[in-house]
Amino acid sequence: MDSTVSSRLYEHALRIIPGGVNSPVRACRSVGRDPLFIRRAKGSKIYDADGREYLDFVASWGPMVLGHADDRVVAAIKDAAVNGTSFGAPTELEVKMAQTIVDAVPSVEMVRMVNSGTEATMSAIRLARGYTGRDLVVKFDGCYHGHADGLLVKAGSGLATFGIPGSPGVPDDVCKNTLSLPYNDTAAFEACMRQAGARIAAVIVEPIAGNMGVVPPADGFLETLRRHTRETGALLIFDEVITGFRVGWGGAQERFGIRPDLTCLGKIIGGGLPVGAFGGRQEIMRRMAPEGDIYQAGTLSGNPLAMAAGLATLDVLMGADVYETLDRKSTLFWNGMKECVKEAGIPAVVNAVGSMGALFFTSDPVTDFVGAMRSDRERFARYYSLMLDRGVYLAPSAYEASFISMAHCESDLERAWDAFRDSLRRLS
Ligand code: PLP
Repeated sequence: MDSTVSSRLYEHALRIIPGGVNSPVRACRSVGRDPLFIRRAKGSKIYDADGREYLDFVASWGPMVLGHADDRVVAAIKDAAVNGTSFGAPTELEVKMAQTIVDAVPSVEMVRMVNSGTEATMSAIRLARGYTGRDLVVKFDGCYHGHADGLLVKAGSGLATFGIPGSPGVPDDVCKNTLSLPYNDTAAFEACMRQAGARIAAVIVEPIAGNMGVVPPADGFLETLRRHTRETGALLIFDEVITGFRVGWGGAQERFGIRPDLTCLGKIIGGGLPVGAFGGRQEIMRRMAPEGDIYQAGTLSGNPLAMAAGLATLDVLMGADVYETLDRKSTLFWNGMKECVKEAGIPAVVNAVGSMGALFFTSDPVTDFVGAMRSDRERFARYYSLMLDRGVYLAPSAYEASFISMAHCESDLERAWDAFRDSLRRLS
């Protein structure tokens, strides 16, 4: 092992933290590297513990849509912190956050704050089961909804990265209530609903899949989910933990014009602090305790620092033309990448929606998990290293999204293209 600060920290961490990291993909094992330990970040740049600068396209896995350490967000956190960091009691900030979400997200009339995306999906599923009185949950292969037991079946993100279909510790009894179907396969979904529709509590989906790279919904896919769930009385849950406030002010549901029954949020609404939320129609949400009988709780839920950081972020995103500008810049970037791929003559596909995108080393279009898994992992690992050595920080997995932030400027994009062009040349 070399003697950088990162390598020394990693060596230490390996002795006292499983795998040396607090979330598996961070360990960079699938790309054959040791993790960089990060000391600070500002705007579009991130700096490791050895002081090296990288252009960041991970964005903390999505939340940092304004870029890192945005002055407005930092000021809001400082202001909130001097007044106390947690009360375990209601605050005005929570009400403002709830109102902002209700105003922004078309299907949400009432919302409950939690502390992570995992908590949001787990609680939404409990609510759907309690509300419908049914047990079965339908999800889609390659979608990741956090690490709650029943949602790990054929999941994306770290499970795809490490090629594990579920996890020891999840009882078969729990898994038997999860049905996982191919993403974008309307016929398989219709067959499932015909057979088991009356027993299905919820259909949960990433409306734009962002945990097997990026896979947009095929025309008619989300509409089919909406139609059949309505007909059978199952609740449709959009997991917008990534897409919420990322692909538009009203998320993917606004972009595609579909109203789910429940929506899960996280990432951006916490401005980089731990957060999650789930919401939906009043009639359903009123079943939550203490108004209703379905239990869910949290010591730090609605934490004032997270609310302040989230509100400061949303305040910027609320501005005129923010998403048009972000989308324009992003489209330019993805198109530039496609040009580089063409020039290099390497079989690769770029999938993107707005400011989220991914590169797959395969010549076939990627429309589902099987397609994503066709991406050449060994080539991705070499590509990752080449990019890192050229100062571009990407997610260390072929099955994660890259994110453009408002802080990326034209020269950042050009720098990334140069690194990309050079890396592809060396790969071919
Ligand atoms: N849902 C989606 C779509 C996600 O991408 C993630 C995490 O990346 C989660 C849920 C879980 O969120 P968290 O990591 O905050 O628990």
